[in-house]
Amino acid sequence: MDLGLKGRWALVCAASKGLGRGCAEALAGEGANVVITARGEDDLLATAAALKAAHPAVEVLAVVGDIATPEGRAAALAACPRVDILVNNAGGPPPGDFRDWDRAQWIAALEANMLAPIELIKATVDGMAARGFGRVVNITSGAVKAPIDVLGLSNGARSGLTGFVAGLARQPRLAGANVTINNLLPGAFDTERLRKTLAAGAAEAGLDADAVAAKRRAAIPAQRFGSAAEFGAVCAMLCSAQAGYLTGQNILLDGGNYPGTF
Ligand code: NAD
Repeated sequence: MDLGLKGRWALVCAASKGLGRGCAEALAGEGANVVITARGEDDLLATAAALKAAHPAVEVLAVVGDIATPEGRAAALAACPRVDILVNNAGGPPPGDFRDWDRAQWIAALEANMLAPIELIKATVDGMAARGFGRVVNITSGAVKAPIDVLGLSNGARSGLTGFVAGLARQPRLAGANVTINNLLPGAFDTERLRKTLAAGAAEAGLDADAVAAKRRAAIPAQRFGSAAEFGAVCAMLCSAQAGYLTGQNILLDGGNYPGTF
């Protein structure tokens, strides 16, 4: 199926690695031009070069910067001729016990995982509506649906974004103008972040990292971790011309891990 994305411009935040990169690859594969961002220049430029080599017909622009800051967002927006597709993403907050978190840690989590996406949405959705096409995909977490105790910063900040988006997506001036806003909720995906988290947990418990990863995979009905490519493919589907009636939804991609019927 042709997803109708050829010639669209996509701003994909935090995309030098992992799930963001998977989304950029899938969108470029559908013919969308992409602006990708990340904080680390070397990895970002390497990813941009790989994307360009794989998809020579599309434009690939790389913007170094922290998307959680006003400067990082301004640079990303300035580089994108127009934002037809916005994929909001940033690194997740660290795990821990809420008794140890001070105000600064909460503010950092809110900046990265709630306010940055809201600011980028604010900067782009009215232009999308005026042009009659827009797709916003926020990468959140399965922890929004099934909170994970040690990820309190993530549970809190991402739930704030989710609540805000639920209202915004239903504004007739957006939904009625073919602008959709949805959240993609990853379960366990085989990215650098997951590998590091598993290795750190195993080291702390004095266990073998491979054995811990195998146990985690075995607990997922799909018996494996997801791949960034399959995450990106679902993102591209949400961004497709055909998905204009799909908005305000939280879509869990977790290999069946969430145990509920709904
Ligand atoms: P990753 O560490 O593999 O990649 C993160 C990417 O984001 C990198 O390119 C990094 O450079 C970039 N980045 C991080 N913070 C940034 C910032 N402030 N500004 C610009 N770029 C930034 O991580 P991932 O596994 O792809 O995770 C992506 C998001 O999904 C995170 O918020 C993570 O918490 C969430 N998540 C991931 C999983 C999983 O299993 N991988 C599960 C649930 C939620």
